[in-house]
Amino acid sequence: MAEWEAVVGLEIHVHLKTRTKMFCRCELEYGAAENTRTCPVCLAHPGALPVPNAKAIEHTIKLGLALDCEIAEHAVFARKNYFYPDLPKGYQISQYEQPLCGPGRVAVPRADGDLVVGIERAHLEEDAAKTVHAGGETGRTVGADYSLVDLNRGGTPLLEIVTKPDIRSAADALLFLRLLRQTIVELGISDAEMEKGTMRADVNVSVRERGEDGFRPRWELKNMNSFTFIGRGIEAAVRQQIAAYESGDTLEQHTYDYDADLDRLTVHRTKEEADDYRYFPEPDLVPVAPPAELVERLRSELPDLPGVRIRRYAQTIGFARADELVMTGNETNALLLVGAGVDLDTAATVSMNQPPGWTPWPENAAALAKIITADNLTREARTAALSASALGPIDAEEFLSQTAVRDESELDPVISSILAANPQQVETYRGGKEGVLGFFVGQVMKETGGKADPKVVNRLLREKLQA
Ligand SMILES: [Zn+2]
Repeated sequence: MAEWEAVVGLEIHVHLKTRTKMFCRCELEYGAAENTRTCPVCLAHPGALPVPNAKAIEHTIKLGLALDCEIAEHAVFARKNYFYPDLPKGYQISQYEQPLCGPGRVAVPRADGDLVVGIERAHLEEDAAKTVHAGGETGRTVGADYSLVDLNRGGTPLLEIVTKPDIRSAADALLFLRLLRQTIVELGISDAEMEKGTMRADVNVSVRERGEDGFRPRWELKNMNSFTFIGRGIEAAVRQQIAAYESGDTLEQHTYDYDADLDRLTVHRTKEEADDYRYFPEPDLVPVAPPAELVERLRSELPDLPGVRIRRYAQTIGFARADELVMTGNETNALLLVGAGVDLDTAATVSMNQPPGWTPWPENAAALAKIITADNLTREARTAALSASALGPIDAEEFLSQTAVRDESELDPVISSILAANPQQVETYRGGKEGVLGFFVGQVMKETGGKADPKVVNRLLREKLQA
C-alpha cells in the first residue's frame, strides 16, 4: 500500500484595522446600518478617483516584515476584472505581478521542532461588498427568494497572505494559522476574528505518494471561517482523495464545500479552465514606493514575535505549556510574577489556573510573589489573595498569617475520628478503591476549616488506612 502525504497551502484574508476604507474616506464600522458607509468612490460613480490608505500600506509592510518577507520597492495595484452583484465597479483593485510583500518564511514552533512555511506573497486589496440571500429555505443563492447587497464592506482594506504548499497535515495547518493570527493581533493591524469575518481562509489540499515530485490536482475550500472546520475539511479532503486514487480514479481541480454534518466535501463548482481576470495595472493609481526610512522604522518597531517567545519559554516549561501561555493571553500575568521573582513554571501554572479575565494590579506583584512561594499557606488564603490582587492593593502579611496546619499531633485525632465515623468508606478503600481517599481528604479539610496541609493529610490518611 502506498504511503500518502497531504500537501496543503493556505490563502488567508484579513480585514485591516483602519479608520477608513482602502481607497476612500468612508468610515469602517462593524455592524453599522446597511449601506450607510458609502461614497462615490466605493459606489464606483464614473469619474470618482481612488486614493490609497497610507495606514493600510503600513500595516501590510509590518506584517510582511514579521513574516520575513522582502518588501517591494515598487508595488503595483492592478485591476482584477470580474462581475459580481456585490462589486459595482466590475473589478476589484488588488495587486498581481508586483505585490507589496514578496517571498518570506515563518518558523512555527512545534513539540518536535519547527515547521517552516514559505510565504509566497502578502498583498493589499479591497474587499467586495456583501450579498445577503434571504427567504427560501437554504440560506444560499439557490433557493433564496431574493438577495440584498450591503455596500458597507465594499472597499474595506484586505490583506491577503498566500503560503507555499509546505504544510503536510491538518494539525500543522492549524498551528500555522493560530500563530499567524496571534502575530496579526499583536501587531495591532487587525482583530482577525473568524466569527466576525475579519479573518477567513481558502484552503488548497492535494495528496501525493511520499517521495513523489510535483503536485497533483488540488481541491479548494473557499472562505472557511472556523479553525475547527478548516482542520476537519483538510482531513476529509485527504481521506477522500486517497480513497479515490486507491480505487484507480483520477481527480481534477475543483472548488469544494465542507459539509460538517456528513464530514465530507461536496463539489461546489467545477472549473473548466482557470479564471481569466484580465489583470492590468490600475490606471488611476501610481505605484506604491515605500520609502526605505519607513520600512526601516517599521522593522525597528517590530515587537518580540509570538513564535520566538514560545520557543524561548519552551526551553523551561516545554512546548505545550509555552504555546498555551502565549496563545491564551496568560503570558502578561505570568511575566508580572516572573518579574517579582517567581520561576516561570510556577508563574505559568498560577496564571493559567485563574479564571479568564483575571488581571492582578501590577503593584501587587511583590506581595503575590511572596504568597505564591509560601509553602505553608492555606489553599483558601492563597485563592483569596489571588482574587483580591485583581481588585485593589493587597497586603501579603494579612494572608500569610493563615498558615496551613501541618502539625501531625493536631491532625491525628481529627483523622482518627473521621475514619471511625465512616467505616463503610474505610472498607471500600481497603477493598482496593483508592479513589475514596479524596472523600477523606475532603472531610479533613472541612473539619479543619480548610487549614490542613493537603500533602500531610494525604500521607497520614494512607498510613492509617493501610494499618
Ligand atoms: Zn466610500
